[in-house]
Amino acid sequence: MAETKSTCCYCGVGCGVIIEHDEGVITGVRGDPQHPANFGRLCTKGSTLHLTAAPNTRVARALYPELRATRNEARSRISWDGALDHAAERFAAIVREHGPDAVAFYISGQLLTEDYYVFNKLAKGLIGTNNVDTNSRLCMSSAVAGYKQTLGADAPPASYEDIDHTDCLFISGSNTAFAHPIVFRRIEDARKANPAMKLIVVDPRRTDTAEAADLHLAILPGTDIALYNAMLHVMLWEGWVDEAYIAAHTEGFDALRKVVRAYTPQMAAGICGVPAADIERAAQWFATSKATLSMYCQGLNQSSHGTHNNAALINLHLASGHLGRPGAGPFSLTGQPNAMGGREVGGLANLLSAHRDLANPQHRAEVAALWGVPDVPAAPGKSAVELFRALESGEIKAAWIACTNPAQSMPDAAQIARALDKAEFVVVQEAYATTETAAYADLLLPATTWGEKTGTVTNSERRISRVRPAVAAPGEARHDWAIAVDFARRLGHALGNPLTDALFPYADEEAIWNEHRETTRGRDLDITGLSYATLETEGPQQWPFPSGAGSGKTRLYEDGVFPTESGRAKFVAAEHLPVAEPVSAKYPIALTTGRLRDQWHGMSRTGTLARLFAHEAEPLLHLNQADLERRGLAEGDLVRVSSRRGAVIVKVAASDSVRPGQAFLPMHWGANTMGGYGVNVLTVSAFDPYSKQPELKHAAVQVEKY
Ligand code: SF4
Repeated sequence: MAETKSTCCYCGVGCGVIIEHDEGVITGVRGDPQHPANFGRLCTKGSTLHLTAAPNTRVARALYPELRATRNEARSRISWDGALDHAAERFAAIVREHGPDAVAFYISGQLLTEDYYVFNKLAKGLIGTNNVDTNSRLCMSSAVAGYKQTLGADAPPASYEDIDHTDCLFISGSNTAFAHPIVFRRIEDARKANPAMKLIVVDPRRTDTAEAADLHLAILPGTDIALYNAMLHVMLWEGWVDEAYIAAHTEGFDALRKVVRAYTPQMAAGICGVPAADIERAAQWFATSKATLSMYCQGLNQSSHGTHNNAALINLHLASGHLGRPGAGPFSLTGQPNAMGGREVGGLANLLSAHRDLANPQHRAEVAALWGVPDVPAAPGKSAVELFRALESGEIKAAWIACTNPAQSMPDAAQIARALDKAEFVVVQEAYATTETAAYADLLLPATTWGEKTGTVTNSERRISRVRPAVAAPGEARHDWAIAVDFARRLGHALGNPLTDALFPYADEEAIWNEHRETTRGRDLDITGLSYATLETEGPQQWPFPSGAGSGKTRLYEDGVFPTESGRAKFVAAEHLPVAEPVSAKYPIALTTGRLRDQWHGMSRTGTLARLFAHEAEPLLHLNQADLERRGLAEGDLVRVSSRRGAVIVKVAASDSVRPGQAFLPMHWGANTMGGYGVNVLTVSAFDPYSKQPELKHAAVQVEKY
């Protein structure tokens, strides 16, 4: 038996794993005791990774390239050369006839940093379109915009070890116990070691995380800003703000002070649906603890005002001086395993390499020089929702979808289905042939996955870890970066671009990483001092790690200097706004969606393992007993849940985790498992004006007996 160190592929905790394998078969997995993210621990998902890699789960795998000539026929097997030549010819023809913005790439926070880098360069450097967006748009883009508006850079300032040093942990919009279980184990340990530590949880539902809290603020969906503004109001009234920190390190506080004047605890209690006394207590614990750490996730991000949700929470840290010290700071928990890495290489429609902004002419010129191309196009690319709307309207004609399942995961799933139906040419690059999106593929390209892949990922605490292969890929599956490079070379030649070979010279993933590393020189995430060799000998490292540094940084902004023009952090004077789709007489229930403990995303991997259904075997609509009685429903009845966009049929469960007038449905089940459409046929595609992240967390629905 042999052993290979790698990283769990499921979530942004980024746990280290040791893969046990024998004669080309993965036989076991255990936590890596030396990895700083988990110190040997794994959750139910991570500890069963080897079972999802077993040969009998390969019925779900895409093994060979498959192509169909028309939409009405089944795909049939084709060689890699045939597949990629065909794709290059189709893309080249569309680009020649309609221009570069008629094609688009929709990629994934599940890709490795090296994969991401190549796709970004292929779109922006070779084809000349910024139409490259990713499912990270559904995940962390509001956290990105929130950090940039307040602290000046997309850089989570804290680390997991701050959990051990905090006296007050403020978890908002995150069921950490289910979605980031190993972080939650660390929180449990910290509370045992420090029984005086306060845990405040803000969540409309009484989740397992909320159950553990000293104070649970069960706010109404979408009312976060009113809560945070009221907490700041209390801090000001009581003299709990850190005037010295505000004066020395921030700007814009006067405008915020004026805004929060109206947010009395009583006023916010009316908006948020929680007692004013609880708001006052939360403000006291947050402001007066020795060190306050906040952790937050999709409850803040997946909102039509997600950026200001983030900014309003960061305001509290700046106002109380809880930042840049052990145990203190705002800390976004990344949903996907490599949403951070994707942001680092600029793999979004509005970003460029190394946290550069597409809208900045100097940044475009810097990237063009690094890549050796005349320019990078200035026109903004389409974000996820916009991209699929443009596919439906015909503005975008061809889409290349890699390592993600938008037919299941995007909001307003019926619109996504129409878009994929309308597209002239859809390429799906996937490890699994069974996803909802694979059904729309004109060309299906088999990709490697966990246990077979090689490269790097970055977790929530800015820590870069190696992903290593333990076994060979099944069938003819290839690495994502290699598929993208092979396609790029063929497309570049088909378009007659003389720079093609120079743009994509990579022999292996390390060559890509080295090029990416050079783009970070002098930037906030500078990793010019880090190499594959260092990761090999020293293990996972946090950024920044500039040339000459002996180690990365655990904590940012310890000197109170921020990467803004003035060097000061900025307060954002945000006002409360309603959800995009308020409840109404016809749709009177506020639906929230979220994760279960043992499933991951659209279940393409976790759904192959019966054991992971033992916790929750099927999608259940959680409804308060009062709403069941009002509708004459009993536990287990089939109900029709409908929104303005579509309906699903599911069983109902009585649950006191939601208040009357609210419901919860897990996000994992899609059309393949629910018949017709999955949960996202209900959700709304309205998005935040800054981050363009859609409001996946809330929709107005009706619930009726089926
Ligand atoms: Fe994997 Fe996340 Fe579980 Fe760690 S917490 S084992 S990264 S799923």
